[in-house]
Amino acid sequence: MNNEPFDWVQYDHDHIWHPYTSPVNPHPVFPVKSASGCTITLENGQNLIDGMSSWWSAIHGYNHPVLNAAIRAQLEDMAHIMFGGLTHKPAVTLAKKLIDLSSPALKHVFFSDSGSVSVEVAMKMAIQWAASKGQPSKNKFLTLEGGYHGDTFGAMSVCDPVTGMHGLYSNALAKQFFAPKPVNDPNGDWDPSEFDGFTKIAEQHLHEICAVILEPIVQGAGGMNFYHSDYLKAVRHFCTENNVLLIVDEIATGFGRTGRMFASEHAGVSPDIMCVGKSLTGGYMSLAATLCNQEVADTIADGHPGVFMHGPTFMANPLACACADASLEVLLSSDWQNNVLRIEKFLKTALQPASELTTVKNVRVLGAIGVIELFSPVDLPKISREFVSHGVWVRPFGKLIYLMPPYIIRDDELEILTRAVLKIIRTLS
Ligand SMILES: *Cc1c(COP(=O)(O)O)cnc(C)c1O
Repeated sequence: MNNEPFDWVQYDHDHIWHPYTSPVNPHPVFPVKSASGCTITLENGQNLIDGMSSWWSAIHGYNHPVLNAAIRAQLEDMAHIMFGGLTHKPAVTLAKKLIDLSSPALKHVFFSDSGSVSVEVAMKMAIQWAASKGQPSKNKFLTLEGGYHGDTFGAMSVCDPVTGMHGLYSNALAKQFFAPKPVNDPNGDWDPSEFDGFTKIAEQHLHEICAVILEPIVQGAGGMNFYHSDYLKAVRHFCTENNVLLIVDEIATGFGRTGRMFASEHAGVSPDIMCVGKSLTGGYMSLAATLCNQEVADTIADGHPGVFMHGPTFMANPLACACADASLEVLLSSDWQNNVLRIEKFLKTALQPASELTTVKNVRVLGAIGVIELFSPVDLPKISREFVSHGVWVRPFGKLIYLMPPYIIRDDELEILTRAVLKIIRTLS
């Protein structure tokens, strides 16, 4: 008998893959005991203020009593039931909420289990839409450089080939078309010549393109780029004129993060297809949805085989739907707009001094998103230890140090968070 206590952190190190790490020589990870509100409590008892919302997700903070209660109540009825041939109230309630909340044109909801899958579903919808119209050769996508849409094969094919982290697989991916990254400051005037690159590549390949897919206004994991709403308007106009669908990936931006319920609203743009995920369940569990308009649904139904060829095992999982229902209730009954505005103002003031530093290329804030772009990449293990020793949880990537705290974060917590970031950035050279 081995009476050594089980060293589970060592076991993690030896056997478990974490995101984007070496399988045998991973960076150290910090063991978490629990999380509540905006506080993450480590196994050693240390408390960290959360600056990440667990990657755009935990908008109401952790361990929220209303979300907890919704999951408990649903658990008493059923945790899961197949969605083929059956339905349930949590799914229908949630679908209605999503349809009521989003652009009036969006009428049909497809539930899936993660953001990447919701992107696959959106891309399949667009291909099937074109095929149903008798244009099966229109099966390519036009997207923007600097974008990120997930880690599965279809989604990878529309990620930025360089910053999208999937360059290694490029020979195995479908070839898509990339327009230059839009860079006009969202708060300044828009220079329409910025759209020329898009028009050029779009017109060259129009006979092959079924849809444009993009992240509206904020490009997330591909580089945290913010762009002008007039650019998005121009894309919508182009798609309408040329019979190409517009897919907006609101997985990161949806549910208030940019100051609007959906970032497309900054441009007053109605998409043909929309993907949501991440904060849909308030960051509790994995659920995503793809919404489409009546024309896409009708065209797919009228074509061959008349059905949409997709159906995940855990489609519309009742626990996840009940949790998402509760999360949207919490969001809508809160003053989220003013809260996001408060965070935006705070981040603008608090992060501004960083722009004076020689190591800092740019500081930008939009909604509850603050970004400090450096000239050179950070040493991730080192800077992670420093953030933790200052009592905050911040997870930079490459040259980007960014904050997107839960909407419930208090000013005194923001103060600790931003002060730690500034202090650590000042030590970089
Ligand atoms: C995170 C993300 C995805 C992928 O979602 P997963 O749930 O990680 O599969 C897709 N698009 C955008 C814009 C994202 O931020």
